[in-house]
Amino acid sequence: MMIDLHVHTNCSDGTLTPSELVKRAALKEVTTVAITDHDTIAGNAEALEEGARLGVEVIPGVEVSIKIGEVGVHLLGYGLDFTTPRGLAAFNRLALAREERLVRMVSRLNELGAPITSKEVKQLAGGEVIGRLHIAKVMVRRGFVPNLQAAFTQYLGKRGLAYVDRERLTPIGAIEVIRGMGGVAVMAHPGVLERELGEFPEEVVKELQELGMGGIESYYSRHSEEQTDAFNELAAKLWLFTTGGSDFHSPNPDGIELGRGYGDMRVPESCLFNLKEAIAKTRN
Ligand SMILES: [Zn+2]
Ligand SMILES: [Zn+2]
Repeated sequence: MMIDLHVHTNCSDGTLTPSELVKRAALKEVTTVAITDHDTIAGNAEALEEGARLGVEVIPGVEVSIKIGEVGVHLLGYGLDFTTPRGLAAFNRLALAREERLVRMVSRLNELGAPITSKEVKQLAGGEVIGRLHIAKVMVRRGFVPNLQAAFTQYLGKRGLAYVDRERLTPIGAIEVIRGMGGVAVMAHPGVLERELGEFPEEVVKELQELGMGGIESYYSRHSEEQTDAFNELAAKLWLFTTGGSDFHSPNPDGIELGRGYGDMRVPESCLFNLKEAIAKTRN
């Protein structure tokens, strides 16, 4: 029994379609996957359908970006009833905000002399959630920059000339959307935060917990064993449940694999059990 509660499809920045992702889960003997695309719930319905067909349990989810002060945090949402009108509206708004951001970045690029249009970018994205990578690809194709790297360092990166910050849900807004859809909120990859900041911001966890976050992702491809232990301890101390996942984006023999991360990641069955219990509690 192998569990993976953090995976991406081509509805955000992964490469497999939701059905392909579930097929791969079956192939890799992963019995449960949670689809957690960035800012979109669009892949869940297809994944659930394929999961029912292949006998893979699919937990509908999402990964949203928020900011606490200056700290960027990724929040996972699990057990979403994605037919909830208010939740749907919130995610539609996010998709709209993304599109507005795209248009603003493209018009800045036009001012800087790049001959690209929003339409081209949308065509290239082909229905996926539009991101900066799509803009970068069009820039390369048009010969405005030599490669993707240059597109990001000079134009699309945080310090780039055409960068526009993205609209985010507020922390309370994100947690309310997730809970409003009958789901639970979990802090994604706390170890990534620890690496970024030099030390782990426990107060951020407490703050989010007060807003209704229920768990943290202790098991993660890029967490060391020590980190996993430390996060499990923190979770026990604060009465949070723990989850785990690979953050799989695309098949790559040297990269992250479903259910195993870089090879030795295993998400304990108890995580799934506790997650389901937490979801059941929100719904009652
Ligand atoms: Zn993330
Ligand atoms: Zn992720």
